[in-house]
This record gives sequence, C-alpha cells and structure tokens, in this order.
Amino acid sequence: MYAARANLKPVLYTGIEPGGQLMITTDVENYPGYPNGIMGPKMMDDFRTQAERFGTDVRYAVISKVDFTGPVHKVWTDSDEEIEADAVIIATGASAMWLGIESEKRLTNKGVSACAVCDGFFFRGQHLAVVGGGDTAAEEALYLSKLSPLVHLIVRRDEMRASKIMQARVLKTENIKIHWNSETVEIIGDNEVTGVTIFNNKTGESSTLPIKGFFVAIGHKPNTQIFKGWLDMDDSGYLIPQPGSTKTRIEGVFVSGDAADKVYRQAVTAAGTGCMAALDAERYLAAKGVI
Ligand code: NAP
Repeated sequence: MYAARANLKPVLYTGIEPGGQLMITTDVENYPGYPNGIMGPKMMDDFRTQAERFGTDVRYAVISKVDFTGPVHKVWTDSDEEIEADAVIIATGASAMWLGIESEKRLTNKGVSACAVCDGFFFRGQHLAVVGGGDTAAEEALYLSKLSPLVHLIVRRDEMRASKIMQARVLKTENIKIHWNSETVEIIGDNEVTGVTIFNNKTGESSTLPIKGFFVAIGHKPNTQIFKGWLDMDDSGYLIPQPGSTKTRIEGVFVSGDAADKVYRQAVTAAGTGCMAALDAERYLAAKGVI
C-alpha cells in the first residue's frame, strides 16, 4: 500500500502460501480497526484488495533465487523468470514447525495437520490432540473444542508459554484436557490416525490416547533460506536488520515482518514494519535519483 501510493510500482510475489500465517488463523481480535474481530483469511483478502487499489501488481509465484550484487537487484521465480528491481522488500514471514518424528511425516494429511482451521472440519465429532504450549496451540485447541467432544492438549513443560488470556480460555474449556510434562512419542495408525502415545517426563509413564486427528502447533521458522550468504541472520534464520531500521547490510534490500522478528510476531507489528520498509525503500530510491 505504501509503496504503491508512493508510485514505486511495486510487484508483490505471494510465495507458496499467499496471505501467509493469517490464512490459517480464525478470529483476529487484536488488530486495530476491527472491534468485533475478523477472520484471518478475510483480513488478508482486504489487505490485498487495498494494495491493488493503488496499483500493486500481485503475482502468484514463488521466488527461489536472488542476486544482490547490484546496483540493480535480481530475483528469479521458480519457473526461472528473472526480475530486476531497484529495491527489494523481504516479507517472506515464517512457517509452521513440525516435531520431526517418522509417524508425523507418514500420516501428514491422513490425520496429522498443522492447521486446525483448514482441517478441523474433517474430524468433527472425533477425539483430537494438539501439541504445543504457545498461543497457536491454545488457539487451535479452542477452535477444535467447538468441533470435537474431547481435545487433548499435549504440553511438554508444567506451564504454557501462551498469553494469560488464551491460557485462561483453554483452562476454562471443559472439553480441553491438558497433559502437562508430556512429549509425543509416536502417532499411531497405518492409513489414518487412530491414536498417539505420549510420555510423561516427570513420572516416566507412557500412555496412548485414542484420537483421529493430531494437530502440530509448536511454533514457526522464518522463510529466509534463499537469503543465506547474502544477508545477516541469527542461528534460527531470522534476518537481522540495522537497529531501528528495515535496512539490511545490502543497499536497496529491506526486511519486514516475521522474517526478521522472533519477539513480537503479530499481524500489527508485521504491518508496521512493512510500512517502515516501504518508507525506507522510497527514501533510498529518492536519494539514489531513481525516483
Ligand atoms: P511459540 O510462542 O514459539 O510457542 C511454541 C510452543 O510449542 C511452546 O510452548 C514450546 O514449548 C512448544 N514446542 C516447541 N517445540 C516443541 C516440540 N518439539 N515438542 C513439543 N512442544 C514444542 O509459537 P506460537 O504459539 O506459534 O506463537 C508464535 C507467536 O505468535 C507468539 O508471539 C504468539 O503470541 C503469536 N500468536 C498470537 C496469537 C493471538 O494473539 N491470537 C495467536 C497465535 C500466535 P516451550 O514453551 O517448552 O518452549
């Protein structure tokens, strides 16, 4: 929106998950301007419409390679189309993380999912499990509790990381059963999920919960692999901009949103840094005499 309204003729590549994490979120209750909340996908649709209104060229493609040797930067789509840009704003966000156990991989889309909103409907009326202790896990468990008679929430420590308000909602929901200090050993099933074996790391006991759906909600990893070697990043892959700015160490390359934020990671902070990146890009282009 900011880049388009500044006449910078922005081209927006949507990546593999157009709209990003908000497409797999239900009610967004903490974005200013929506006093009654809004569904994540509807909000993303509104954002796209608003950006297009000012001339943003939205293209449904994935960027798989970059070359920032400059002065004009180059990026390539996964169908090998080359695009030149005077400035690049990275807003590649973050994606869901998985436990990494064999049964999880084998049963993905056969009862294992990282998105309750996308897949919960298929398991309505069935017993389900969610693993994780953050806001995402709380949100997924609450969403599923409206579809399922019993939702097991598997938390690996004796406390949740989720915000107090979300924890309170989970705790007062009668059909969410929290299993504290519990780790997932194996998801059971051949062609569909039939149960999950968990291990209590305090008592040393194992137990099997009969379930039909297993939802992984243990956090996210930044989508920054293609920038490795070009830009500064921390051990987890989060990009490191210059303090108080969206500038990276390469002139004309800016970063916004969750790709550079492992602390706040909210829709409103991502939107805010997106605005900052567009303003930084505009000033950079003006100083360079491009606009
Ligand atoms: P998160 O805050 O990083 O929490 C990840 C959770 O998964 C933690 O409880 C962690 O346990 C657990 N975990 C990680 N690896 C695990 C493993 N291998 N096995 C079992 N458990 C594991 O991630 P998030 O919940 O996705 O939230 C990310 C950010 O988005 C947060 O800032 C959150 O506030 C925000 N968010 C906000 C809303 C909302 O406001 N409505 C909704 C969703 C997300 P430990 O605690 O033991 O590390």
